[in-house]
Amino acid sequence: MEFAMHSPPTVPACSDTGVDASESTDIKPSILLVEDEPTTRLMTSRQLTRAGYDVEVVSNGAEALAMLKKRFFPLLLTDWDMPEMDGVALCKAVRATPLEGYVYTILLTALEGKAHVIEGLAAGADDYLTKPPDDNELRARLNTGRRILKLEQSLRAANRQNHLLSITDALTATYNRRYLMERLPQEIGRACRYGQPLSVVLCDVDRFKHVNDTYGHQAGDCVLQAFAKLLMGSTRKDIDWVVRYGGEEFLIVMPETSTAAAVAFAEKMRVTIAAHAFKVTEGTLSVRSSFGVAGYHSVQAPEEVSVDSLIACADRCLYSSKEAGRNRVTGKALGLGGRTIVVDRSV
Ligand code: GH3
Ligand code: MG
Ligand code: MG
Ligand code: MG
Repeated sequence: MEFAMHSPPTVPACSDTGVDASESTDIKPSILLVEDEPTTRLMTSRQLTRAGYDVEVVSNGAEALAMLKKRFFPLLLTDWDMPEMDGVALCKAVRATPLEGYVYTILLTALEGKAHVIEGLAAGADDYLTKPPDDNELRARLNTGRRILKLEQSLRAANRQNHLLSITDALTATYNRRYLMERLPQEIGRACRYGQPLSVVLCDVDRFKHVNDTYGHQAGDCVLQAFAKLLMGSTRKDIDWVVRYGGEEFLIVMPETSTAAAVAFAEKMRVTIAAHAFKVTEGTLSVRSSFGVAGYHSVQAPEEVSVDSLIACADRCLYSSKEAGRNRVTGKALGLGGRTIVVDRSV
């Protein structure tokens, strides 16, 4: 996948980033223990199990790295001296590998002295304990790690939420133009690479100014929200996507869809919208809408296609629908010698 599918964001959660100093945190206490010496491995593993951790054990850095790539562990407790890949090399490798989240790493070693501490921390370890670790100290150090992981998780969640908000239209919960400019070039690239069709449907509420002038701006907002909901509810989940292109204009991007199929979709939407009772404070009202459809297929149009050429084509078709009296669908396939293949359907 070249892009992630996003669900429209929910109301932003008020994220509590306060540190819980108690032992209980939200982090699932699963820990990867890396130790080459069997007796120490067994003893440390028991210590961790007694402390309430879900422990997985491996015997060297290479095994640990392979395990971390398969399953995410938020906590890593690793020996220093080990064959194949030692603890310091493992720390460096963990920091250089993109993983699901941050791995809080404690180096466990018999080696003592400042130089070692500095080397371990510089390699990417978060903390350092000498062997054999004291039970209480081990628990306390792991709790510190869990507090930091909790902060890291809430930061990640806030970032995800911010990203969703940055690509979403606040009034209608459709995508916004920023997302369009980010994603449509990817859709075009994919259509070209795999020789698949791609269509865009531009639609505009007819005489919307009249709705605002007659019923007020808030009623207009309600109409726009319901209009967007109808569009989003009629598109294919995780395939098509809806953008608020302008004030009362929406763009529906339909991958793997021929011009004829997109025109048929637009016609279905036109009829659905015309039949819909839009609720406003004063009661219900009906609206009409006009559509411009542009389709691309490398078989029909071997020339270059771009975001601009596709949208400009849909815009010209929309203009034709308006000119021809509104409440219409006009469609055109790029290429085909500029021939408009489906035009002006209205009732
Ligand atoms: P046409 O059939 O030619 O499209 O006519 P129209 O009245 O729909 O088009 P026009 O461009 O003249 O007016 C669009 C109106 O949409 C004007 C603008 O105030 C209104 N509008 C744009 N964004 C919003 C919004 O977020 N909320 C509300 N209530 N109105 C909006
Ligand atoms: Mg060892
Ligand atoms: Mg309009
Ligand atoms: Mg308009």
